[in-house]
Amino acid sequence: MANSIQAVRGMNDILPSQTSYWCYLEETLRQIASAYCYSEIRFPLLEQTALFKRTIGEVTDIIEKEMYTFDDRNGDSLSLRPEGTAGCVRAGIQNGLFHNQQQRLWYLGPMFRYERPQLGRFRQFFQFGIEAFGMAEAIVDVEQILMTSRIWQSLGLKDQIKLQINTLGSSSSREKYREKLIEFFSENIDTLDEDSRRRLTSNPLRILDSKNPDMQLMLTGAPRMLDYLDDNSKAHFDNLRRYLDKSGIDYEVNPRIVRGLDYYNMTVYEWVTDRLGAQGTVCAGGRYDGLVEHLGGKSTPAVGFAMGLERVATLLESVYSPDASPQVYIIMVGQEAFDRGLSVSEKLHTLFPEIRIACDYSAGSFKNQFRRADKSGAKLALIFGQDEIQNHTVSLKYLREDRPQCTLPEDELHQCLLKALVD
Ligand code: ATP
Ligand code: MG
Repeated sequence: MANSIQAVRGMNDILPSQTSYWCYLEETLRQIASAYCYSEIRFPLLEQTALFKRTIGEVTDIIEKEMYTFDDRNGDSLSLRPEGTAGCVRAGIQNGLFHNQQQRLWYLGPMFRYERPQLGRFRQFFQFGIEAFGMAEAIVDVEQILMTSRIWQSLGLKDQIKLQINTLGSSSSREKYREKLIEFFSENIDTLDEDSRRRLTSNPLRILDSKNPDMQLMLTGAPRMLDYLDDNSKAHFDNLRRYLDKSGIDYEVNPRIVRGLDYYNMTVYEWVTDRLGAQGTVCAGGRYDGLVEHLGGKSTPAVGFAMGLERVATLLESVYSPDASPQVYIIMVGQEAFDRGLSVSEKLHTLFPEIRIACDYSAGSFKNQFRRADKSGAKLALIFGQDEIQNHTVSLKYLREDRPQCTLPEDELHQCLLKALVD
């Protein structure tokens, strides 16, 4: 046999045994987003490479080594989107969504990054993200955090995911901090790895984010942004904390949560779990008041988050049991039984649109079909054999209860089913 063609490394099939988790997760996200009056936006998977370079910044992991970039037939450089904010803001500017308006938007879809595939880290992965535009107050940041908290609550994951917050302050207060950081890292240059040395002057904040175990001890001694905030930035952070406290949200301040780009400011946060090994961040959010202007729009405050859905789906597997098995299994033996079975199942689909009905078209023996019915997890089997065809009846067997099989006229079936499935 010729070698079969495999999927691209790091790009997953989501199989039928997993899609129930995904559907449940996506439904919950849509429902909660809509309850907070966020509207869905859909933007392309491909954009001009320049958009991501300008949004994400040249000296970041994503731009330096993680993008899927190619020239199209016209010679234009395009990239598969590595995250959603860039496309969302581009679409908003291009379509005039930010002109003197507030917008609450959400998106859900695949993102692409050329990373080393491992548990919780893939080359195609899904994000659910929200972005609010035109609102500068910390209370909006808190509303989004409350939304995420409600999502965990609704999915049964509240105990597994903890909130860590920090502030990046305003860009002017960050300037001072940046100098202090460069000073500190220069004193500790021997402990810095190659990536960090490269970033020393281009993006020193990102060094704080390093996962290199050899640098952790040194990093605990690094200066903290919190100590360099100007009055405005301090007030924003105090407000954030006050609203969080009032809302009863538990959190920890983690001074090492940073974003290394100028248009990110004030609030940054991450929701983390210890159940997924090294890839513990399930959701990352914060404010980016400078981005809309940076991309050519009118200055517009903005705040949002992005959630990694593979990581959430993995957590769901331990708390949610989907029930996708049929409720009714139709067993048919003989050609005439097929005709009757099909027409009865269609009638039932009309009468009970929610009920899951599996028809066995295998033309196997009663014994084999019963075995499959039992394995399917169905509660009831409907049987159409010779006798039932002749007498215009249907036999009904309870597969999960110790009750005798009964035979009834076909026109009494729906009453009987109603009772059997509701009880
Ligand atoms: P990390 O430090 O884990 O690389 P990041 O800073 O690159 O994260 P973000 O760009 O903030 O991640 O993306 C938001 C969320 O999307 C992450 O918290 C994570 O849940 C998810 N995510 C990011 N990259 C991947 C990936 N390659 N595979 C699966 N999920 C991912
Ligand atoms: Mg990353």
